[in-house]
Amino acid sequence: MLLLLAAASLDAAAAALRLAGETMGTRYSLSVRNPTLPAAELQAEIDALLEDINDAMSTWRPTSELSRLNQTADTAWIALSPALHEVLTAAATVSAQTAGAFDATVGPVVNLWGFGPQTRVPVPPPADALTAARARVGFRQLQLADAPPRARKTRPDLYVDLSAIAKGYAVDRVAGWLADRGHRDFMVEIGGEIVSRGHAEAGRPWQIGVAWPTPDSTDVERVLSLGDTALATSGDYQRYFEFEGKRYAHEIDPATGRPIEHALAAVTVLHASCMYADAYATGLLVLGPTRGPALARELGLTALFLIRDGTSFRAVTTGELAGEEAD
Ligand code: AMP
Ligand code: MG
Repeated sequence: MLLLLAAASLDAAAAALRLAGETMGTRYSLSVRNPTLPAAELQAEIDALLEDINDAMSTWRPTSELSRLNQTADTAWIALSPALHEVLTAAATVSAQTAGAFDATVGPVVNLWGFGPQTRVPVPPPADALTAARARVGFRQLQLADAPPRARKTRPDLYVDLSAIAKGYAVDRVAGWLADRGHRDFMVEIGGEIVSRGHAEAGRPWQIGVAWPTPDSTDVERVLSLGDTALATSGDYQRYFEFEGKRYAHEIDPATGRPIEHALAAVTVLHASCMYADAYATGLLVLGPTRGPALARELGLTALFLIRDGTSFRAVTTGELAGEEAD
């Protein structure tokens, strides 16, 4: 399922401490050179940080701050933690830039298609349920303000799902934590969203392999050498169900209320912020093979699009990757 192979599989000799664990319904891993804490302490601190983030923004936790915002029917202003406010604000920015292709309020539709926290039999939902869920969608229905950070639901049943941006945010936070403690060379990854800093070893950059966008693929489409950057990937093969011979992906197009159905299979975005890379990757994937690359160029984003072409794929690149078309 993982599109991005961690550096270690390419750099068996890299002399960095490697840690791995579970968070946000997926796995995380990190490689750190010259750790300033013993491995067990480092891991305990990072696990605690990730727990805090989940407590703020996981829709899988009924008591998280976000779940409480989702559950309340209160349409008055509600105080937010700075962390949740930051992610909701970035989500609103990317929603506006992608004309709503990325929209965290699409959660009720995501849940109806069986990709949310409630496990249900994966079948296409009935039309009336879909119509009702779609009425609840629209990022402008959540108002945000700062000083102090707060939000207001303009309808009592507004429901926000941060699954398409929270992993990237968490990677940024872990990277920030490591940097604050004096680390200069590391790579952090949660479920394929990555931040890299410095080098894997003297003079050699961190590298990741972008796998072909098929469920079990470990074949590498290209290897990216990473400097100080973040990178995130969305793919229609990462989570899906099949019903009557048709595949339904977990990215929902808010414009139709249905899983995406087009030739664009995967998008990888490089950005200074992993939170933004994560949100853009989802939004650009939803936009599809023509509008996705067009918007990436307009916004000056560096991205790699893998587009189905018969039985194979073709790559389209923008920004700093432009012109690096593989054969
Ligand atoms: P990602 O893997 O980052 O593309 O995030 C996909 C997850 O985000 C899905 O499993 C849903 O929970 C949620 N999601 C699906 N469609 C959208 C969308 N159009 N905008 C924002 N979040 C979405
Ligand atoms: Mg995303």
